[in-house]
Amino acid sequence: MSVADTEVDVLIVGGGPVGLTARALLERWGVATLLVEKRRALSPFPRSRLVNARSMEIYRQLGLADGIASRAFGPEFGHIRFRDTLCGGDFAEAPVAGVNAAIPESPVIGVVTSQDRLEPLLLAAAEALVRFGAELVGLAEGPRDVVATLVDHGRDGARTRVRARYVLAADGANSSVRRRLGIGTTGPGALGDFTTVVFDADLGRWCAGRPASTSPRTAPSPRCTPKGAGPGSGPPPRTRRTSTGPLSSRAPSAPATAYAPTCCGSSTG
Ligand SMILES: Cc1cc2nc3c(=O)[nH]c(=O)nc-3n(C[C@H](O)[C@H](O)[C@H](O)COP(=O)(O)OP(=O)(O)OC[C@H]3O[C@@H](n4cnc5c(N)ncnc54)[C@H](O)[C@@H]3O)c2cc1C
Repeated sequence: MSVADTEVDVLIVGGGPVGLTARALLERWGVATLLVEKRRALSPFPRSRLVNARSMEIYRQLGLADGIASRAFGPEFGHIRFRDTLCGGDFAEAPVAGVNAAIPESPVIGVVTSQDRLEPLLLAAAEALVRFGAELVGLAEGPRDVVATLVDHGRDGARTRVRARYVLAADGANSSVRRRLGIGTTGPGALGDFTTVVFDADLGRWCAGRPASTSPRTAPSPRCTPKGAGPGSGPPPRTRRTSTGPLSSRAPSAPATAYAPTCCGSSTG
């Protein structure tokens, strides 16, 4: 096997919720890890809405549950509202399971939040090494360990090698680790291509009194999920992003957004 620059017990590939949670748990159990994430920073996109009760139990063990709950949306956002248009009435409504009432078997309840609120808390929950801008591009398995080849996008594509006893493939639905290991998938595969557009706007005029975690709409078929602050929610996000622009700071003097959804369009991307 090739000579490695770094040795570690567990190499975690991917800095999403799975990889970040695994890093925090392994640190708690005294296991040395290195997490590599090909992006140069955490993803700024809100994405998933629900941290369910079982996940909150794990975050409670890590001492994170209260912090996650304090950054979450209020329980009044625990609804999915189906509309033809943003300003139309709801033709269907469904509660988000497990966020509005205590579950007898659990000391916690789930919360409506978003990944751009959750992931910074997970990152801060451990001190183990993280290398952003480092992409796994090769894996060589030996009898007792694995040597991973990384490309460091922050250092002109410099290549380094990491020897690990275990590699944890937390690199998402399109896992390149899975493909490298020849592990297939079942099911229909990709169901479509999507473009995500995140914007901040005051839509309180249309949505006031009907807060929702997600607002799927029939025409022209974008899906809206709230990103900004609403009544009872945590503080407004400090950054915003458009589909083409870089991250930019919200002006400190900008008025609070009463209800700022994220619209997830359905074009290609
Ligand atoms: C627009 C949108 C809306 C969503 N809404 C919901 C929702 O409402 N509810 C819900 O439950 N889920 C939702 N999801 C899905 C949710 O975001 C994912 O299920 C979740 O992020 C999966 O977490 P993960 O840690 O497994 O993977 P990811 O969050 O995908 O993280 C994987 C990470 O691995 C990194 N990576 C990949 N390959 C490499 C490599 N070779 N080397 C280094 N790093 C690598 C990627 O850059 C990525 O950051 C949504 C997703 C999107 C895009």
